[in-house]
Amino acid sequence: MKKTTGTDRKITQAWRPATQAIRGGTWRSEHGETSEALFLTSGYTYDDAATVAARFAGEQDGMTYSRLQNPTVAMLEERIALMEGAEACRAQASGMAAMTAALLCQLSAGDHCVAARAAFGSCRWLVDHLLPRFGIETTVIDSADNAAWEQAIRPNTKVFFFESPANPTLDIVDLDFVCGLASSRGITTVVDNAFCSPALQRPMEFGADVVAYSATKLMDGQGRVLAGAVCGTDEFINEILLPFQRNTGPNCAPFNAWVVLKGLETLSLRAHKQSENALTLGQFMEDRIAQSGGTMLHPGLASHPRYDLAVKQMDACGPIFSFVVEGRKQAHAILDALNLIDISNNIGDARSLMCHPASTTHAGMSAEERLEMGVQEGMLRINVGLEDVEDLIEDMDQAMKAAGL
Ligand SMILES: *Cc1c(COP(=O)(O)O)cnc(C)c1O
Repeated sequence: MKKTTGTDRKITQAWRPATQAIRGGTWRSEHGETSEALFLTSGYTYDDAATVAARFAGEQDGMTYSRLQNPTVAMLEERIALMEGAEACRAQASGMAAMTAALLCQLSAGDHCVAARAAFGSCRWLVDHLLPRFGIETTVIDSADNAAWEQAIRPNTKVFFFESPANPTLDIVDLDFVCGLASSRGITTVVDNAFCSPALQRPMEFGADVVAYSATKLMDGQGRVLAGAVCGTDEFINEILLPFQRNTGPNCAPFNAWVVLKGLETLSLRAHKQSENALTLGQFMEDRIAQSGGTMLHPGLASHPRYDLAVKQMDACGPIFSFVVEGRKQAHAILDALNLIDISNNIGDARSLMCHPASTTHAGMSAEERLEMGVQEGMLRINVGLEDVEDLIEDMDQAMKAAGL
C-alpha cells in the first residue's frame, strides 16, 4: 500500500483542512483505486515465518490482526488526527467506546476525576456509576464555573472530563482556562467534542490533551453507522490507550470506518451549513420563546450566558441547540405536531431531528439528577439539518402554534 503523497507526515500535515478532509491518510493498493479501499478482513497472511515473527516483535511494519491494525481503519485514524491537529488517533466502535477507553486506559483505583455535571446521559453514567466501581473517585461540578474546577482539585486528581458545548444543555466550558489549569497541575483533560467536530472547534488549540469523539454524529453525518475516536499525543495513544484497546477490543469495524471516511470528505461543508441553518432557525424562535417565558439555549445567540466564549472557541455555532418550554406536556405537544422535523434522539445528521431529553436520552436518571444537571422537563433539543431553512421555519412555526406558543 502506498500513501497518496509519499510517506512523509510533514507533507500531509502542511495541507490545509479542506485538503486533509479529502486526502488525509489515504493509502492506495497496487490497483490505484480513487476511493479508499474497504478491507473487510480480520486477519493477514505472511510470506514466511520470519516475516510474521518480525511483525510480532515490532521489528517490521505491517498488519497482524484487525484488533491491532486494519488498513481502512488506519486511514480513518490518520485523517481524523490530521483534521484535529493531533499527533495520533485510534478509532473506536462508538462514541461511548471512545469515552470509556479514554478514561479507563489512564485511571486506576485511588485516582480522582473531575467531570462536568451537564453531559450526555451515558457519559454521566461512566462518571457516576462505572468509575466508582473500580475505586476511582469522581466529583461533578458546574462546568461554567471556573472557580469550581479549581476547588474540586485534590492531590490525586488525574483527569478533567467534559463536553463543550454539553449535551443537551449547551453549557460552554472555558477551554483556555480549564485546560491551562489542568496542565499547571499535571492533570489530563479529556474533551468530548461531539457537538462540534474538528470542523468547528479544535480543543487542542486551547491546550486540551485528549479529544474524544462520537463519530456517529457529525463525522458520519448521515445517520448510518456508530463509530468513535480518541486523539492525543503519540505517547498517550501508543503507550497508554493502545495497550488498553488492543487487549479489550473496542475497535471500529472497517466498514464503519470506511463510511466515516466518506463522511469526513463533506464534514466542513455540512457543519457550516447546518450551523447557518441552526442560527437562522434560532433567531426565528428567539422572541416567541422568550415572550412565553421559555429559554433558548443556543451558543449562536447573544442571549447565551457564554456567547462571547462560544464565539472565541467555535468557528460557528454548530447544528444543535435546545430550548425550554412550559413543561413535558407542551414539549411533547410540539414534537407531536411536527410534519417535517423527525422525532429522533440522534444528532449531527443531515436531517433535522428533535427530541425531549428528559423522556429519552436522560430518562435513565432520576428527576432530581436531571434537574441538577439542567435537563428540565420542558426542554427540547434540536439537530438542525441541511433541508431548506424556510421549510424548517414553517414546520417549527406551525408546531409551536399547535402547542399554544
Ligand atoms: C452521542 C454522544 C456520545 C455517545 O456516542 P455514541 O456513538 O452514540 O456511542 C457521547 N458524547 C456525546 C456528547 C454525544 O452526543
